[in-house]
Amino acid sequence: MSLFSAVEMAPRDPILGLNEQFAADTNPNKVNLGVGVYFDDNGKLPLLQCVQAAEKTMMDKPTARGYLPIDGIAAYDAAVKGLVFGADSEPVKSGRVATVQAIGGTGGLKIGADFLKKVSPTAQVLISDPSWENHRALFTNAGFEVGTYAYYDAENRGVNFDGMLASLNAAAPGTIVVLHACCHNPTGYDITAAQWEQVIAAVKAKGLTPFLDMAYQGFGHGIAEDGAVIGKFVAAGLNFFVSTSFSKSFSLYGERVGGLSVLCADKAEADRVLSQLKIVIRTNYSNPPTHGGAVVAAVLNNPELRALWEKELGEMRVRIKAMRQKLVDGLKAAGVKQDMSFITSQIGMFSYSGLSKDQMVRLRSEFGVYGTDTGRMCVAALNSKNIDYVCKAIAQVV
Ligand code: PLP
Repeated sequence: MSLFSAVEMAPRDPILGLNEQFAADTNPNKVNLGVGVYFDDNGKLPLLQCVQAAEKTMMDKPTARGYLPIDGIAAYDAAVKGLVFGADSEPVKSGRVATVQAIGGTGGLKIGADFLKKVSPTAQVLISDPSWENHRALFTNAGFEVGTYAYYDAENRGVNFDGMLASLNAAAPGTIVVLHACCHNPTGYDITAAQWEQVIAAVKAKGLTPFLDMAYQGFGHGIAEDGAVIGKFVAAGLNFFVSTSFSKSFSLYGERVGGLSVLCADKAEADRVLSQLKIVIRTNYSNPPTHGGAVVAAVLNNPELRALWEKELGEMRVRIKAMRQKLVDGLKAAGVKQDMSFITSQIGMFSYSGLSKDQMVRLRSEFGVYGTDTGRMCVAALNSKNIDYVCKAIAQVV
C-alpha cells in the first residue's frame, strides 16, 4: 500500500486544461481564445523590442547571478512603486509604500493573502461574481473563507453596480475586498470613475480592506488612465494592497514578474509591514529570480526604453480594440441577428460573449474555437487571419 494510494485526482485547471485540449485538437483551423495571452496579428506571442534591447545590454555585460534580496531588486521595487503610485506621489516620497518583487501577479496576491492571514485571521474575503478563477482558490488556500460581491449583470450586459454596492455595504468591517483595478477578468466590464468613487466611499464607511489586482495596467485606456484608480484610493486616505503583473504588459509570461505594494499609514509602519512580507517570502521561496525583474527594471528605469515600452503596449491596446470592432462587424456580416455591439463597450483582453456553455462546447467540438464554458473569449488572440473563421463559427452556434 503506497502512501499515496488514497490521493484523489484533482480536477483539471479549467483554463490550462483547455490549453491541453487545444494542443491535442487536430483541426487545422483551430483558434485558442481560452487563455489570457496577447498574440500579435500573426498569431505569435510578441517578444517586445524594449525587452530585447534590455536583454542585449545585459548580454553584452554578463553578470553573475547571486541571490537577490528577499524583497527583490531595489530598482525594480522602486519602478513598481513609481508605476503604481507615481514616482513623485506623496505615498512614494514619504516612504509609506512597502513593495516587494513577486513571482508574477499571482505571487503578489499570494504574498498579500498570507500576510493578511496573519493580521486579519478571521476576516472574510470577497471576490467579484464572477472573478479570475484563481482568486477564490488562492485566498481559500491561504485559509480564508471566500464569498462574492455582485458584479456581472448578464441581462443588461454590464456591471450590476447597485448589487455591487449593496454587497459592499452588507460586508462586515475588516472584510478583504479583491477589486480588479482595470480590465475586469473575465467579463471585460469595468466600473466608471464616478462608480469607483462610490465604491471607495463604501469601502471607507464600512472599514473594508481593499486589495486591488492590477494585472492589466495599460490594456484598458492607457498606463496612467488605468492606474488613476490607485490615486483615488490614496486620496480617500485608505490603506490598501495592490498586486502588479508584468506578464501581459511586457509579454513576459514565463519570467514570472510581478509585485505587491502595501500602502501604510507612515514610513515606520511600512518598514514593519515590509519586514513581515519578507518573512512570508523567505519561508515560501526565499527570494525571487533575477532575470525577469532585471529586464523590467532596466526598461522602466531607462527613459528611452520606457518610451518604447509605452509605445509597444499602446500598440497592443489599440490592436485589441480594433479586433473588438472587427468581431462586432464580422458577426453581423456572418448573419448574427442579435446586437453584439456590447463587445466594444468591454475593455481589456476579454469578452464575456454571453454564449451558453452548450454553445461554447459546440464551438470547440465542431469548429475548434476554444473559449471557456462561461462564454469568455480572449479578444487579444483574434487576428486578421482567424477573425472571419471565428465569426462564422459563432454565427453557426448562436
Ligand atoms: N490577476 C488576474 C485578474 C489575472 O487575469 C491574472 C492572469 O491571468 C493574474 C492575476 C496573474 O498574473 P500572473 O500571470 O502575472 O501571475
